[in-house]
Amino acid sequence: MRPAVMPNLVEQLTALELRALEDDATGVSRQRRRGSNLVQVAAAHHAIVELRSVAAIPEILSRGVDLLHRDLGFDRLVVLEREHSNPSAARVRAVACRTRLAGPGFRSHAELPVAARGALDRVFDGELSAMSEADTDDGALRFLGADAFAVAALRAGSGAMGAVLGDHFLSGRRISPEDVAALGVAASALGMVLENAALHAEGKTLRSLAERDSLTGINNRRNVLEILRREIDRSRRYGKPLAVAMIDVDHFKSWNDHYGHQVGDTVLQTVAQIISSTGREIDACGRYGGEEFLVVLPETVAENAVLYAERLRVAIEMHGVDLSAVYTGLSLSVSIGVTQLLPRGDDADQMIHRADVALYQAKEHGRNLVCVEWTAQPVRAAPPMAKGILGDV
Ligand code: GH3
Ligand code: MG
Ligand code: MG
Repeated sequence: MRPAVMPNLVEQLTALELRALEDDATGVSRQRRRGSNLVQVAAAHHAIVELRSVAAIPEILSRGVDLLHRDLGFDRLVVLEREHSNPSAARVRAVACRTRLAGPGFRSHAELPVAARGALDRVFDGELSAMSEADTDDGALRFLGADAFAVAALRAGSGAMGAVLGDHFLSGRRISPEDVAALGVAASALGMVLENAALHAEGKTLRSLAERDSLTGINNRRNVLEILRREIDRSRRYGKPLAVAMIDVDHFKSWNDHYGHQVGDTVLQTVAQIISSTGREIDACGRYGGEEFLVVLPETVAENAVLYAERLRVAIEMHGVDLSAVYTGLSLSVSIGVTQLLPRGDDADQMIHRADVALYQAKEHGRNLVCVEWTAQPVRAAPPMAKGILGDV
C-alpha cells in the first residue's frame, strides 16, 4: 500500500526511503515503536545529557534535534524559537528529517505561524507539551504540510526558551498521547543542557559552579541557605514578612528502583525546573538534599506561601500525568512544608526545622500535600490541609 505522501515529494525520494514509509503505512514500524517507547525515551535522555560536554549552543541544537529524531521516531523534528518582536511567529532554528527533504517551505530561519491559544502558543506560555488542533493551528499545519503535530517546551529556569515540534508529514501516521509525552520529557532534558551552556556562555562559569547544583542548575544547599540568612536580615530591617517552603519528592526511590538512576536524575531536573519557573522573580530556590528543595519567599506571609506551595504541588502533579504516559506504574508528586519567620527569636535553622516538621506532617497524612507550621517552641504540628483545598491557615 502506498502511504499518503505528498506527490511532489514522492518523486524525489530514494527507493529505501519509500520502503521505510510503506512499512509505516502497514503498521510494522508502528508496532515495533509502541513496544519500545520507554526504551527510546530513556535512550534519548541519556544521549541528550551527554551533550553537556558541548559548549556551543548551535551545535547542541543540531546534535540534540538529531538525537531526539533518532530515538523518538517522528518523521520530522523542528526546533523553534519564539519571535520576541512578533508573538504570532516562530523561527526555525534546526531541523532533522527522515529524508533529505525537510518539506515544502523549509529553509533555515523560516517563520512558522503561531495562532493565539494554539498548541505552539500554549507551550511557549508554559505548558510542557501539547498536540495541535485543526481549528487553532491551521496556519502552522499548512506550513508544515502535515495533518497534526506534537510540540514540547525547551524549558529551563523561567519559561520556555524555545520548542521542539514533531510531525509525521511523510507517512501521515497518527500522533499518540504517548508520543506527545515522550517529546515533552526528552525536550526538558535538552532545555536543561541548553540552559547550562547559556550560563557558561555568559561567563558565569566559575561563580555559578560554586553556587549551583551540578545536576539541576539551581542554587546548591550552601547558596540557598546564604540567601535565606540574607533575607532574614532584610526582613528584620524593613519589617517585612518572609516564608520558606521545604519540598520533598514522594516515593522518589521508586523512580530509581523501577527505571534506573538516569531517569531518576531527569525527574529531579524536571522538578527543579518546575520549582524555578513557578515562583516570582524575587523568590529563590535551591536543592537542599538528594530529592529535597528549599524555596525562600521574601515579603510573603504564611497564607500566601501556602497558596504558592499549593500551586507548585498541582503543577508537579500535572507534570506527573504527562510522565506516567511514558513511565507507567509510577506517579510524580511532592509533599511541602511551609513556615513563616517569627517576629522574635527566630533564625534560619529554626525556620528550616519548622518547615521540616510541616513536611513530616504532609508525609504522615498521605503525601502529595501542603502543611504549614508557624508556632514557636515547643513545636506543635499544624493540622494537615486537604489536597487542593486552601482552608484555614
Ligand atoms: P518519601 O515519600 O518518604 O520521601 O520516600 P522517598 O523514596 O522519596 O525517600 P527516601 O529517603 O527513602 O529515598 C530518597 C532516594 O533519593 C534515595 C536516594 O538514592 C535518591 N537520590 C538522592 N539523590 C539522588 C540523585 O541525585 N539522583 C538520583 N537518581 N537519586 C537520588
Ligand atoms: Mg527526602
Ligand atoms: Mg522523598
